[in-house]
Amino acid sequence: MSRDELLRYLKDFHWNDVDVAAGPPGTGADAAAPAEADPLAAPDLAGMAAALADCRRCRLCQGRSRVVFGVGNPRARVMFIGEGPGADEDRQGEPFVGKAGQLLNAMLPAIGLRREDVYIGNVVKCRPPGNRDPEDDEVAACLPFLHRQIELVGPDVIVTLGRIAARHLLGTTAPISSYRGRWTSFAGRDVLPTFHPAYLLRNPAAKAQAWADLKQLLQRLAATPR
Ligand code: SF4
Repeated sequence: MSRDELLRYLKDFHWNDVDVAAGPPGTGADAAAPAEADPLAAPDLAGMAAALADCRRCRLCQGRSRVVFGVGNPRARVMFIGEGPGADEDRQGEPFVGKAGQLLNAMLPAIGLRREDVYIGNVVKCRPPGNRDPEDDEVAACLPFLHRQIELVGPDVIVTLGRIAARHLLGTTAPISSYRGRWTSFAGRDVLPTFHPAYLLRNPAAKAQAWADLKQLLQRLAATPR
């Protein structure tokens, strides 16, 4: 529609106070681009996952197949947190589905839990290239989303898996042997750091310590029933 046609059209409807130079509503320079939803403002996990599905807030978006948001019971009593997706997780869009995930799945029934009873997330939601450790700026970009997931799930206990999860959630750079199996807290919630299942696959002798950690988890859950 030309400007003159538009003027005639508006005049016919007695819309004389419209700024024609700006064009019809929604078509000019003032037309608002669709607002990008703020994942942190989402009221639930599903809304947050949808708002993060095309996240480009850090360079990890460049090599990922998909954002691996998290999975499990949205009101889980136990939340497991790893460091980031690997190749299998990147392909399937779900955390802990590779060999390490299969070991985690096998460990859960030993303490009376199934995978669907717990919630599983990661410090970063996109796969670091070559499975390298996520860098500090990448973690800084992504960690607020994990914090919000923790708020939304509201677990009684958080289990950090491996040194990267403990480093970024608990702020420790000490060797994992110095704090593994020792209760601590994050945002008022009990936290039990333990080994990453991938480490247990490489070092089967450490499974005895991981089992001792799981027993502590079981005792804590039994002592504080919901
Ligand atoms: S790692 Fe996190 S912050 Fe970075 S692009 Fe993926 S979802 Fe966004």
